[in-house]
Amino acid sequence: MKPIDVIVVGAGWAGLTAASHLASRGLSVTVLDKARGPGGRSSTRREGEFSFDHGAQYFTARSEAFRRRVEAWEAAGLVAQWQPRLRVFGPRPQAGDGAPVRRLVAIPGMNGLLRRFAEGLDCRYARRVDRIRFDGSWQLELEDGSRLESTAVLLTAPPQQAVAMLGTNHPLHARLDGVAMHPCWALMLGFDKPVQTDFDAAFVNRDGLAWVARNTSKPQRGSAESWVVHAGADWSGKRLESPPGTVAASMLDQLRQLDPAFSDEPVLQRAHRWRYALADLPMNSGCLLDGETRLAVAGDWCSGSRIEGAWSSGVAAARRLEALLQ
Ligand SMILES: Cc1cc2nc3c(=O)[nH]c(=O)nc-3n(C[C@H](O)[C@H](O)[C@H](O)COP(=O)(O)OP(=O)(O)OC[C@H]3O[C@@H](n4cnc5c(N)ncnc54)[C@H](O)[C@@H]3O)c2cc1C
Repeated sequence: MKPIDVIVVGAGWAGLTAASHLASRGLSVTVLDKARGPGGRSSTRREGEFSFDHGAQYFTARSEAFRRRVEAWEAAGLVAQWQPRLRVFGPRPQAGDGAPVRRLVAIPGMNGLLRRFAEGLDCRYARRVDRIRFDGSWQLELEDGSRLESTAVLLTAPPQQAVAMLGTNHPLHARLDGVAMHPCWALMLGFDKPVQTDFDAAFVNRDGLAWVARNTSKPQRGSAESWVVHAGADWSGKRLESPPGTVAASMLDQLRQLDPAFSDEPVLQRAHRWRYALADLPMNSGCLLDGETRLAVAGDWCSGSRIEGAWSSGVAAARRLEALLQ
């Protein structure tokens, strides 16, 4: 059987951006992800009537290229501006460049746009890649015992997970090994009536919590009162192996100290651990490529961090792979 041109590991922003680009150039592309759907760290969890963007909260568009794409998505109704009533608890961070921040969200959840990218692509979910090996072509070994072969591979998992697949013998290993990622505990809360706060989103610059947002205040999220709370990197790191129930109770306690309006008992309470949330010191390389073995590595941490970085890293990787395979 003819090998697939490119196997992309990861159905987040970087992977699906690259896969769409490569497929549009006529290459055969397969996307594998260990999760049950697209999104990665830009995911949406639905439980009954509640909906939570429990990873990425919103995105901004700074570069001209990304701004142009965002305009097209907005015109197509796939993205909308979010204008929460904002508060800051604790010391205010130093002001940025003073320009107003345009906060954008995908519709109807943060994975909405990625679901759209995935349509028409060969995306296979619940497929964890255990190991990849190069012997003239790439051999991928999956957790379910199946194997796939491709001419090129694009890895978009966070660096620690990419290293686990690649092993230590590949020339790109050393570049991946040097990138540290901060963890983040996320708490999802559902209430049976609106919480009477004077804010929809808050930056928290104190020990413990870092961010609080009323998911319901984002466009087209439905009306069930859903909140997402993120803990800071240090606090999360110290409790990385704690039971989710203990973490949830402690975060709810801190939220109530911040604002007693949260004193009603939530009808739904879930904690989720993001072991690799954000890069400590992101690179600005666009992507990494080893031409000899036709391996590319992309992700937010390769290109300045966050969703815009993941998108631009996916674009960079697709262009370089396309040039290599022509
Ligand atoms: C709590 C939190 C808050 C954030 N807030 C914001 C924000 O407000 N604004 C913003 O712009 N960004 C934010 N970010 C960052 C943003 O989510 C990321 O920059 C972006 O989603 C990264 O996309 P990516 O494609 O590079 O990686 P990912 O989204 O991590 O995609 C990698 C994919 O690889 C898959 N994978 C990993 N290992 C394997 C394997 N062995 N086999 C198969 N599949 C595998 C994973 O399941 C995942 O789907 C936040 C992130 C977190 C966690």
